[in-house]
Amino acid sequence: EMSVEKHVFEADVAKLLHLMVHSVYSDKNVFLRELISNAADACEKLRYEAIVAPELLGSDPAPRITLTLDEENARLIVEDNGIGMSRDELVESLGTIARSGTRAFMERIEAAQGKDGAQLIGQFGVGFYSAFMVADNVDVVSRRAGTDKAWHWASDGKGSYTVSAVELADAPARGTRITLHLMDDAKNYTSRWTVERIVKDQSGHVPVPISIVEKPGAEPAQVADGTALWTKQKSDISKEDYADFYRGVAGQYDEPALTVHFRAEGRHEYTALAFVPGSKPFDLFDPDRKGRMKLYVKRVFITDEAELLPRYLRFVRGLVDTADLPLNVSREMIQESPLLASIRKGLTNRVLTSIEKLAESDPDTFAKLWDNFGSVIKEGIYEDFERRNQLLALSRFRTTAADDKPRALNDYVKAMKDGQTAIYYLTGDNLAQLQASPQLEGFRARGMEVLLLTDPVDSFWVTTAPDFEGKPFKSITQGTADLAGIAKEDGASATEPEAAASVTEFVSFARTTLGEAVSDVRASDRLTESAVCLVAPEHGPDRQLQKMLQGAGR
Ligand code: ADP
Ligand code: MG
Repeated sequence: EMSVEKHVFEADVAKLLHLMVHSVYSDKNVFLRELISNAADACEKLRYEAIVAPELLGSDPAPRITLTLDEENARLIVEDNGIGMSRDELVESLGTIARSGTRAFMERIEAAQGKDGAQLIGQFGVGFYSAFMVADNVDVVSRRAGTDKAWHWASDGKGSYTVSAVELADAPARGTRITLHLMDDAKNYTSRWTVERIVKDQSGHVPVPISIVEKPGAEPAQVADGTALWTKQKSDISKEDYADFYRGVAGQYDEPALTVHFRAEGRHEYTALAFVPGSKPFDLFDPDRKGRMKLYVKRVFITDEAELLPRYLRFVRGLVDTADLPLNVSREMIQESPLLASIRKGLTNRVLTSIEKLAESDPDTFAKLWDNFGSVIKEGIYEDFERRNQLLALSRFRTTAADDKPRALNDYVKAMKDGQTAIYYLTGDNLAQLQASPQLEGFRARGMEVLLLTDPVDSFWVTTAPDFEGKPFKSITQGTADLAGIAKEDGASATEPEAAASVTEFVSFARTTLGEAVSDVRASDRLTESAVCLVAPEHGPDRQLQKMLQGAGR
C-alpha cells in the first residue's frame, strides 16, 4: 500500500486557480497550447541533458508528444517522453509560482476581461494551471529520465493536491502523462477535428512532432512534424507561419509588429528569428524582467538566459540557432564566448535597422511600436554609447509643433530657427501640464519648437547625451534662455529694449526679499504673458530631475 501525501497550494496558486476556474475567457483553447509547450520544453530539456548523459535516451531517442482523445470517459491525455519530474520537482513546479512579479500579474488578470486575460496567462507562464479552465480534475503521472520511480500528482484545483508513488507499469517509461477530466462544457476537446485544428493553429511549429490518438488503443496519427521553422527558407514561410510561431515563442495572441529572420554567414554562422510583439507585455518595467531570446545549438535548446540582446531590447522575442558552439557548452562558458559577442552585435544591428526600415515603409505600425516600446528603447541612449546617435535618430518625441504627432530629431533640426543653436526640451509628468507651462511662452512667440518629454527615462538620457548632430540639448527650465537674438514671429524686433528701470528695481527687490531661497533673480526673454517662472541653474540636474531625485529620497 503506497502512501498519499496531501499538500496545500501556495496562496498565490490557489488565488490564480480560482481566477482560472471562475473567469470566463473567450478562448479556452489556450490551455492546450500551454500543455503542449510544456511537453516540448520537457523534450528539449532532455535533449540537452542527454548531451552529457546519452544513456538517458535509452532505446527511445526521438522526442514526441501524443494527445489521446477518450470521448467515452470525457478525458484528454497529453503525454510526452521528455525529461519528466521527480517527486520534489512535481511539488515545486505544480504547487507554487516561482516567478517574480506574481502580485502584479494577479492584479492585471483580475482587472482584465476575456481575451486580455488569456493573453496574460501565456505571458506570465502560469501555463500549467490553465488546465483547470477545462478540467475539474487533473492527474499528472511522471517519471524522470534515468530514475526508477514514478509519481502521481492529482488535484481538483480547489486548494490542495495529492502526491503518491505509483507502479512503474502505470507510468510512462519516461516523461509525463497529464490526464484532464473534462468539464461538461469542455467535452468538445475529445473531438478529433477540434483538437487537430487547435494544434495546427497554435502549435504547428513546435520543434517536437505531435500525434493524435483518436481513442485509447488506436494508432497515433501525426498532425505536426516538428520541423523547426527557422531552418526553412524564408521564401517557404508564410506570414501566418511566422505569426503562429511568434505566438508560441512570445506567449502572445496578437500579430508581431516586426519579424526579423536572417542567416549570418562568415566568421560566425548562425540563424536568428526575432519578433517585436504587437502589444506591450505588462511586466516590461519589472526590474527582474530579462530578455528571453532562446539560444539553440544545432536545434538543441540550450538556454534562454544568454544575453543575446542588450537590455533596452528586452521586449524582442525569438531565438538564435548556431552550429559554432559545442553542444556541451556550459551556460557559464556561453557568456564568455566571442561568438556570443558577435551574435549580440549582429542581432542588435539587424533589429535596429529593421525598426528603422519599418519607420520608413510602414509609419503606422512603427508609431504603434514606438508607443509600446519607445520608453524602453530610449534607455539605450545612455546604456549603449556606440549606438547613441542611431538611437536618438530612431526616437520620436512629442513637441510643441502644431501637428501634435511624435517627431524625429532630424525633423526638429530641419525646423530650427535662424540663430538657434540648441535643441530645447522641457521635462515633466504629463503632456497637458507641459503644454501649459509659462516657460514655453518665449519659445512660442518665436515659433521655436520645444521637445515635451514625459517618460521618466527622458530626464536621464538628456543629461548624458551631449548633442544630436552637433546641436546640444538644453533644458528650457535651466539657466538663461539665449532667446534675445532670435526674431519673434509677430515681427517685433529681435532684441528687447533695455529692461526698464522699474524691472531692474523689481529684480533687486526680489533678490533681497527671497534671499537664500533662490540663487539668482533675472529678467528673462522666455516669458511673454506670465510675470515669473522658476528655473534651475545652468549646470546640474534640471527641475524634473531634481523632483525625481527628491522623490527617491536623495
Ligand atoms: P512555465 O512553463 O512557464 O515554467 P508552467 O506553469 O507551464 O510554467 O509549468 C511549470 C513548470 O512545471 C515547468 O517549468 C516545468 O518545470 C514543469 N512542467 C510542466 N509540465 C511539464 C512536463 N510535461 N514535463 C516536465 N515538466 C513539466
Ligand atoms: Mg509552460
